[in-house]
Amino acid sequence: MFNIENITRNNVFRLTPYSSARQEFMGEANIWLDANENPFETKINRYPDPYQTALKTEIARLKNIPVSQIFIGNGSDEAIDLLFRAFCEPGEDKSYIFPPTYGMYEVSANINNVETVKINLTADFEIPECYDVLKQINSKGLLFICSPNNPTGNVYALETILEIALGFKGLVVVDEAYIDFSNAESAISLLKEVPNIVILQTMSKAYGAAGLRLGMAFANEQVITVLNKIKPPYNVNSLSQAEGLKTLQNRTKVLEKIDLLNSEKAALIRLLIASPSVNKVYPSEANFLLVEFKDSDRVFTRLRSKGIIIRNRTAQIKNCLRITVGSPEQNEVLISAIKEI
Ligand code: PMP
Repeated sequence: MFNIENITRNNVFRLTPYSSARQEFMGEANIWLDANENPFETKINRYPDPYQTALKTEIARLKNIPVSQIFIGNGSDEAIDLLFRAFCEPGEDKSYIFPPTYGMYEVSANINNVETVKINLTADFEIPECYDVLKQINSKGLLFICSPNNPTGNVYALETILEIALGFKGLVVVDEAYIDFSNAESAISLLKEVPNIVILQTMSKAYGAAGLRLGMAFANEQVITVLNKIKPPYNVNSLSQAEGLKTLQNRTKVLEKIDLLNSEKAALIRLLIASPSVNKVYPSEANFLLVEFKDSDRVFTRLRSKGIIIRNRTAQIKNCLRITVGSPEQNEVLISAIKEI
């Protein structure tokens, strides 16, 4: 049986949260003298809505999920950190990851003094059989599944995620930072079946708004309540809330850009495969490609000398570089630079 008290850090469960002025009074008023703000109107003299109600209402409509099941963070990196602080007893609970994957899970675990257990993906970047995964788990805490995975680009079946969640006493965090580029169904649908899943999404990738720092977590209401209890009172600034809302209301533009980036990705794959310096291009459901080169270090340095910066992933996957899909013009320059190598 899911019991929020069993998975929440003791001190967090017992915590009396800070009560900000804007939480204590949220109604209509003529004169606001409760928050020690500056009274002279600029667009930013007032504290923002601590619970980002307008933004959440639009997200709730788009994702078909109640506002009470949404948390918004200062980027999904903030949500990752808060999940550690709320649901991992330092030195006791553990974090489980499937490398190669997004590096912040381990860094956040280290910051929070939580041990990371690494369960390697198979050679074709699949999650090992559920039985093999579960037998390596001997504590509660957090288990991260990045889907589409960074840097491999592949997605994981919802059945696999569900099976793992059913066998784990902690929280399974499904990081869907790149899901908007994929046709795969979001793990949000699993929230109706299991209580111990948190889904992360972000406006940094497909929505083209990395500078706003807007990350979302979707989970059952009890998990969201704990996150709200420990977050900094005004964690999402008012400019980001307003711009984020505008971006969501202009979704046609976002969808057009996703289509363009996906067709650019298909063109890049064709051109890269044809290049003699390339060994392999991994299939990708994200806005980047993992590419194995014959001499990756040479390609990486030559591109950098031409002012083209890609991500060296050779430490994680032999001879592999990760290339973000750029604009048509940028991709053209990239391809001709690779041809010249
Ligand atoms: N998850 C994954 C898999 C990512 O690749 C990134 C950013 N590179 C993040 C989360 C962080 O996103 P945000 O900008 O929302 O903090």
